Amino acid sequence: MEVSDNFRVLLDNPRLLPELKDIAEKVLHNQRITFDEGVLLYEKAELGYLGVLANYIREQKHGDKTYFNRNFHIEPTNLCVYDCKFCSYSRLLKQRADGWEYTMEEMLDIVKKYDGQPVTEVHIVGGVLPQYDVAFYSELFSRIKAHRPHLHVKALTPVEYHYIFKKAKIDYATGMRLMKEAGLESIPGGGAEIFHPEVRDLIAKDKCTGEQWLAIHEEWHKLGMRSNATMLYGHIEKFHHRVDHMERLRELQDRTGGFQTFIPLKFRNRDNQMSDVPESTVVEDLRNYAIARIYLDNFDHIKAYWAMISRTTAQLSLNFGVDDIDGTLDDTTKIYSMAGAEEQKPAMSTKELVDLIKHAGRYPIERDTLYNVVTDYNEYQFADEEKPRFYKLPVIN
Ligand code: SF4
Repeated sequence: MEVSDNFRVLLDNPRLLPELKDIAEKVLHNQRITFDEGVLLYEKAELGYLGVLANYIREQKHGDKTYFNRNFHIEPTNLCVYDCKFCSYSRLLKQRADGWEYTMEEMLDIVKKYDGQPVTEVHIVGGVLPQYDVAFYSELFSRIKAHRPHLHVKALTPVEYHYIFKKAKIDYATGMRLMKEAGLESIPGGGAEIFHPEVRDLIAKDKCTGEQWLAIHEEWHKLGMRSNATMLYGHIEKFHHRVDHMERLRELQDRTGGFQTFIPLKFRNRDNQMSDVPESTVVEDLRNYAIARIYLDNFDHIKAYWAMISRTTAQLSLNFGVDDIDGTLDDTTKIYSMAGAEEQKPAMSTKELVDLIKHAGRYPIERDTLYNVVTDYNEYQFADEEKPRFYKLPVIN
């Protein structure tokens, strides 16, 4: 069945609300939906309808291509001067003995552990502590680049940048320029949570505001550099807060074009101060991916972290607008598992990841941070596939 046939079935459904029919027509004709239409999708649209729309956009942009990358994580510390209510990862400073605080040399040792391995990116993000300042991170980035010039340094969020620039008494533009000169190549999407102060003030009060988060990305984009964006959803926020969040991102993206990927992050309620808040269902997760794909028409990619939502939901998400499922191949990140993610050991070999994507009927592509193709795995033969998978039975004559 052609994509347009799916649309025809949907548009011919006599029970479809006229407002949802209008939105479907807009998507079919590549027109942008409004704020109110975004809220309406959350309130009224059922999963099958959203899947048809989101998959149409996904296939227009990428066909069946589904991206992953090979990276490793460095988490400098799990201690933090902030106390976000949803954070299972931070340990209060008074329990300092339970945490870790890597030194510069320890972090460089982690980088060296990957010497000779085909990773393309190091992803550095963790808690906020005073000793990790502008001077520290500048030295860290430049020493990583000196050791391995082709390893892409994707590091820190506006939460850290706002803190270290304020401490150094420099403005965002100066700070981001210094980071770029030191070797920073892109910014991950974290720290965005929910921008709207009605929610942010309750769950992440003291760290950078939504406006400051956006301003730091804007300065980075002005330097010609790329970044990602996230949204922590499924806790105390209302649907209009989610749409407001995406609206602010869409508006900035119209002006700079610097965002690559939007990553919805599911709120998990284990071991944090919001354990009484129930988690979203898989259906709601898929609806949220789909609405993000529909709303953020100027974002190229929508990503789901397979380690966070489970392999099966990641496969399903590929029909709801997602075209990237990340690719951490070892267990260097503790952020997901400590927050109660589905995958407590987020390790998957390249072959497993490729099979996962192929079994969902998609086309696996290993990418680098900037979405250049590293390896096209659609026709790729893994060495162990060439070996016989059975032994000849002894024949008794
Ligand atoms: S979410 Fe980030 S800023 Fe907030 S407490 Fe956790 S580590 Fe610190």
